[in-house]
Amino acid sequence: MGFAVPAYDTPSLPVAGSEDRFPVRRIYCVGRNYIAHAREMGADEREPPFFFLKPNDAIVQNGASIPYPVATEDYHYEGELVAAIGKGGENISVDDANDHIFGYGVGLDMTRRDLQETAKQMRRPWDMGKGFDQSAPCSEIYPASKIGHPKDGALWLKVNGEIRQSSDINLMIWNIPESIAYLSGLMRLEPGDLIYTGTPDGVGAVKAGETIDVHVDGVCDLTIHIT
Ligand code: MN
Repeated sequence: MGFAVPAYDTPSLPVAGSEDRFPVRRIYCVGRNYIAHAREMGADEREPPFFFLKPNDAIVQNGASIPYPVATEDYHYEGELVAAIGKGGENISVDDANDHIFGYGVGLDMTRRDLQETAKQMRRPWDMGKGFDQSAPCSEIYPASKIGHPKDGALWLKVNGEIRQSSDINLMIWNIPESIAYLSGLMRLEPGDLIYTGTPDGVGAVKAGETIDVHVDGVCDLTIHIT
């Protein structure tokens, strides 16, 4: 048996310190997970966590150059810590959640903010604002067996060397074990799933020709060029 049309290769990310790669299955993103960002987006800061997805082939490798996307005039960066699931499960408890994490990376939840805002106003899905081509740059994955489970530390983002976001991952409204517990009550998690854990305040637009650097203490740096 063959495939009727060409089958695609499984999108994947390097694993730091290894020849192996991390296969990317689903990309889950947590919405509005830092109070200061929820406020800047005009949201209720007490709401339970909510999630959206990006396609797995939206992954972009660290150091890559990506074209300014079509259909937007308001292309935003969102720097985020990313958790990589190594063991599947459903209804995972907060206490058990770390056992399901293979490792961590640093990601960008790139956003066509104008399309997202239109979708919000018209009560339409966010996919075209959030899940477009090359919308999910991510660094190599650092195994938790090497770096542990980061709970605090600086998260900053620079555009052309200028600081635009500066926060701490300990300011997440829902920490990573809580997000995993909640999400795994909605969908069964599997090895290869990534969870983008939300962005702090300071989101903004980038233009062609600019370079974005994102850093999370204890994890790594991600650099992406917009062409
Ligand atoms: Mn985000």
